[in-house]
Amino acid sequence: MKKWCIVGADVLTPEEVLQKTSVVVMGDKIERIGHVEQKLPVVIDAKNSVLSPGLINAHDHLLGTYYPKVGNGPYENWLPWDNDLKSSPVYRERQQIENRDLYLLGAYRNLVSGVTTVSDHIPHFVNDPFLDILPVRVIRDYALVHSIASFALNWGDGIEEEYKKAVKNDIPFITHIAEGFDAETVNDLKVLERHNGLGEHSVLVHGIAFSEEDIDKIKKKNASVVWCGDSNVFMFNKTANIRYMLEKGVNVCIGTDSPMSGGLNLLYEMKFDKAYYQRTYGKELSDEQIVKMVTINPAKAFRMYRHGRIKPGFIADLVIFARKGNAYNSIVQAELKDVKLVVIAGKAMYGDVEYEEIFFAQKSQYQKVVLDGKEKVVIGDLIGLLRRISKAVGFKKEFPFMPVEFKYP
Ligand SMILES: [Zn+2]
Repeated sequence: MKKWCIVGADVLTPEEVLQKTSVVVMGDKIERIGHVEQKLPVVIDAKNSVLSPGLINAHDHLLGTYYPKVGNGPYENWLPWDNDLKSSPVYRERQQIENRDLYLLGAYRNLVSGVTTVSDHIPHFVNDPFLDILPVRVIRDYALVHSIASFALNWGDGIEEEYKKAVKNDIPFITHIAEGFDAETVNDLKVLERHNGLGEHSVLVHGIAFSEEDIDKIKKKNASVVWCGDSNVFMFNKTANIRYMLEKGVNVCIGTDSPMSGGLNLLYEMKFDKAYYQRTYGKELSDEQIVKMVTINPAKAFRMYRHGRIKPGFIADLVIFARKGNAYNSIVQAELKDVKLVVIAGKAMYGDVEYEEIFFAQKSQYQKVVLDGKEKVVIGDLIGLLRRISKAVGFKKEFPFMPVEFKYP
């Protein structure tokens, strides 16, 4: 079955929200929006729902998918946090689990929250072996360094070389930056510039210590920033100057970071960021702006020219959310149980049991689970994964970002 459709949803297109509209999917792409002329083998009824572009989580470390959070901040920079993490009992517990299973857990954590694409900040040799088996899209093409600091982990070939690769291949150059307050970290942007690493391919993660002058330069060079609010506040009791970035029109994206420092998932992170903005600036950050930060903005940052929008010819990465209030509000306020269907490149990956026919029609290997109290269908073997993780650590390990019922032993 190559062609199917979703009918009756409020559809978020780049220009407007189209009420009670249909979207036809052909293969991995969106074919058309609007009237459905022919009879199609699968028609997904999405009334009282909102159809959104698949969400993009602009920063995660899939290998670090575990719980609870570790840390005793506020820290001066990321290094003492990393030391606390690596000497913690929770980290030792995590170390008993196969990397493949941590990757799968990280991918499912994103999938069930409506994420279709994740940026996994790690050298290629670490995530390459797993990308083909994961139930979400992980960005494959990127250049990177770990961070700008002299005490950075030794990832990539250095700022200058990596940025050149990014320009040559038109891929993002991703780095942690200005994550802390010590004398060196506050100058990260200057160091990045000096090594020719600041430009439109730069995806700058955190930026807590960016000054207004730094932000002006970022805007001038058309670089993007990833905001990890919960992780920043947890580790540093502070996050980046988002208000100034938005005033200046910087391309801001939202990322969760790993759940060992950051929010439970992207749904949680959107709510956290909205509340943080209100609390800090006494002003509302609009739902529409937040939704852009998890769709259009990251698609631009990561140079994914056929993602992030519901538009004919674009990749069919789609999420049906239960409607609560208006369309944008329904996404920002969504809980796990409100994620009704997640489609990646035209393929249903996760959804309500009432949509089982699409999984069947696409001949997918799937199982039924009860998640957040609701019966769902999910691709692959999520229960088997949770049981393997429990077996590895020797007790029934449960995760608040994956509230799935399963038996152990
Ligand atoms: Zn990070």
